[in-house]
Amino acid sequence: MTSRYGAGMHGADSVESVSIIRPRGVAAQNPATHPLIDEVVKLNIAAKRANALELLHAIAEEHGAVTFANSLGAEDVVLTDIILREGLPIEIFSLDTGRLPAETYTLIADVEKRYGTKLKVFFPESAAVEAYVRSEGINAFYTSIELRKACCHIRKVEPLRRALAGKKAWITGMRAAQAATRANLPVREHDAGNGLEKYNPLADWSEQDVWAYIRIHELPYNALHDQFYPSIGCAPCTRAIAIGEDVRVGRWWWEDANSKECGLHVKK
Ligand code: SF4
Repeated sequence: MTSRYGAGMHGADSVESVSIIRPRGVAAQNPATHPLIDEVVKLNIAAKRANALELLHAIAEEHGAVTFANSLGAEDVVLTDIILREGLPIEIFSLDTGRLPAETYTLIADVEKRYGTKLKVFFPESAAVEAYVRSEGINAFYTSIELRKACCHIRKVEPLRRALAGKKAWITGMRAAQAATRANLPVREHDAGNGLEKYNPLADWSEQDVWAYIRIHELPYNALHDQFYPSIGCAPCTRAIAIGEDVRVGRWWWEDANSKECGLHVKK
């Protein structure tokens, strides 16, 4: 599907020609990141926050060693806000793949400043990155699904394993409405691949809920969201989408919709 910021604006659909793709001269305000907020919406968000908080308390109490995978998306700033403002005994970590957009680093700094803390960041093993790049090339992920998944494995999956080591449960900001691959997302599931429980407290939140929460609480967020990037990953593998498109369309856009996961959330 061609985005209204697609071939005409980006210059080409050829992935080889793409670095990070930004729509130029975006004048219109993005309605997805600026939902209408009235008293009904505020009450709804307050109720959803209370439910999420209750669940987070229960997760921490049941499992003890719990960590939140903060992928720095809009959903993740919501969960970060609840965990840090409520002082919940839940660790927060993020993965720095080495290929993130500049705006994501700005968000990390903004979050650290707002909450007076430092995020626990995991990096890929440098030897594995060097071997991959020397063998396959700096942007080899465009050439095949296998090489894309190999890059994601080195830069995301292996660091995630280290981040989850010793934990009994982990938490994500995933929502069911984000993609076809997440349509049946439960709030709680057993993550057999990593051998621990996995929770998705925002599974039933809509995109509007997430942005209403962000606006009501004036949270810092990734500036790319306002430029029509609902889902942000690595810079070379993320692009803007058109209003109405599936929010994951801008991730690995050259691949089939059913293969669009990075290996962090694959069931075994
Ligand atoms: S999203 Fe792209 S650059 Fe990032 S780890 Fe996966 S293939 Fe590599």
